[in-house]
Amino acid sequence: MRNLLQQFVTELSDLVLARECIGCRTLGTLICAKCHETVRNRAHIMRDLRFDELAEDLRIPLAIAHRYTPPIDAMIYRYKDNAIPELAQILANLLTGAIAQIPIVDPQKSGKVGPLPILIPIPSRKSSIRARGFDPMILVADHLAKEGFPVATWLVDQRGAGRSKALSTSARTYAAHNAFRIGRIPDGYVRNPIPAIVIDDVTTSGATFIAAVSQLLLAGVHVIGCAAIAGVRKA
Ligand SMILES: [Zn+2]
Repeated sequence: MRNLLQQFVTELSDLVLARECIGCRTLGTLICAKCHETVRNRAHIMRDLRFDELAEDLRIPLAIAHRYTPPIDAMIYRYKDNAIPELAQILANLLTGAIAQIPIVDPQKSGKVGPLPILIPIPSRKSSIRARGFDPMILVADHLAKEGFPVATWLVDQRGAGRSKALSTSARTYAAHNAFRIGRIPDGYVRNPIPAIVIDDVTTSGATFIAAVSQLLLAGVHVIGCAAIAGVRKA
């Protein structure tokens, strides 16, 4: 009982007092200035996602703010478990840096740079939202909305609770294709589609982005890119 209480008090004080840096365990801050700089100064990763099944040579740029290495991995992990608002803000800022790497061309104004793109967050699995009590990317998107980005929650999760690791490759491909359905898109958007960027926290193979973007493109959404907080250079 005492151990449980102690653990509870430690976790609580970690949250309330931000006792040690998530990156390097320096006492006194949630993220120390040094770790914050490390995260901010990493080069952006750009690569293309391929959509050969939809159209030959269809490629969409993927911008990643940071390699999935310390301390960003710990920051994301900690944020997803605890919904710390300060972390949501830092992660939102990192994502803004990735979003800024994607060239925005307004189709209505023949080549001129248009308004801010619509951001479409990849939703968490329903089971994760139940377990955590919140959807991490939706919360990050809320921060980006405050910076003026329109946010559209048009992707609806329909992934099963089954563990994807247990599936065969073909079953996994099938599951990925059916991971999302598209919610109701306003008629006004369909008549006058503005550029959209799909956002997620971590990407490795890009399969989740590809599944989401495929559905959005088929529904008439003008997706011009994907942006992630962390990921790998090449899957
Ligand atoms: Zn640190």
